[in-house]
Amino acid sequence: MENLRNGYLFPEISKRAFDHTQKHPDARLIRLGIGDTTEPIPDIITSAMAEYAKALSTIEGYNGYGDEQGNMALRVAIAETLYRNMGIKGNEVFVSDGAQCDISRLQMLLGSDVTVAVQDPSFPAYIDSSVIFGRAGKFEEETGKYGNIVYMKCSPENKFFPNLSITRKTDVIFFCSPNNPTGNAATKLQLQRLVEFAKANGSIIIYDSSYAAFISDESPRSIYEIPGAKEVAIEVSSFSKFAGFTGVRLGWTVVPEELKYTNGFPVIKDYDRIVCTCFNGAPSISQAGGLACLSPQGYEATTAVIAYYKENAKIIADTFRSLALKVYGGENAPYIWVHFPGQKSWDVFNEILAKTHIVTIPGSGFGPAGEEYMRFSAFGRRENILEASRRLKSLYK
Ligand code: PLP
Repeated sequence: MENLRNGYLFPEISKRAFDHTQKHPDARLIRLGIGDTTEPIPDIITSAMAEYAKALSTIEGYNGYGDEQGNMALRVAIAETLYRNMGIKGNEVFVSDGAQCDISRLQMLLGSDVTVAVQDPSFPAYIDSSVIFGRAGKFEEETGKYGNIVYMKCSPENKFFPNLSITRKTDVIFFCSPNNPTGNAATKLQLQRLVEFAKANGSIIIYDSSYAAFISDESPRSIYEIPGAKEVAIEVSSFSKFAGFTGVRLGWTVVPEELKYTNGFPVIKDYDRIVCTCFNGAPSISQAGGLACLSPQGYEATTAVIAYYKENAKIIADTFRSLALKVYGGENAPYIWVHFPGQKSWDVFNEILAKTHIVTIPGSGFGPAGEEYMRFSAFGRRENILEASRRLKSLYK
């Protein structure tokens, strides 16, 4: 725990935002920082949850503990709806209370002795949970890196895909696509290279597809679109951004039966033990909501909400383009990644907060390659996004 650098990034941002509101009680703060959803959950989904909750008050509708791995109907619905034609079966899907919790449960499965590679920049939970499990080594101030973690630089120069020819072999590779924070979705060809790399090195890929629902082009929505991926990859994913379930809590992890340790033992058996020992199943009400999300009408309704956020993303991206800044992401993800050449990202964060009352996230919080970049979240009410756009234009014009 002592090795953890500062606090976790998001509480630090919240603290600075809170201090700002104390100093400026009349300012109208706009939050484009922590990627929390803002739009109401479609009625068809909340009605299913309300109905399920109401039935809990009846003898016939009451349920206690469910299966630790999740309700089989939901597991099958996830496999059939989101992994159609990829050969994933319901029993390979473990329903959970969210992707972040699953990342830590996977860390428990992996133990303290494994070596780990992460994209740089990346979602902080991969590194921070690796630090907690005691395998990251010391934080080095000069490089901004942990000594025992392999950082795979992802920048515009390499089209946000790591140069695998210089990447050291590790037991585990965390890979997030569409990526938080860069908003970049890996192409099929890139993921094929990643799967080949993992196979050649005997590595397990932990693939985070929490933002897959935002993909607009032909980029894969799952690592299992790549032939052979089932032998090397676990996928974690979430209803949080897909259906506005950040507070409801629901996610899942896919562990294919084909994934085996070098001694031939199936990883799924160990993961099942971890889930049964350390987790007691996702809330049944959330699972009822999850099933509704995957019904044809539920899916259509969530898609409309995602389209709304994507329109927000376009407004933010266009704002920075009009200011002649280099803009990445936003098309396949709710995040816009903006380059502020020559500037420290925490300085940009402080300036934007002080002068426009907008909360953002400094790129360096996601890894050393994030320095000079800022992440802007497209989650927000349209009027706030438009107001933020006006304020940013007047700051930088
Ligand atoms: N994975 C990524 C890449 C995320 O950005 C987030 C949340 O922002 C999560 C996982 C957490 O998801 P959940 O709400 O399902 O725990």
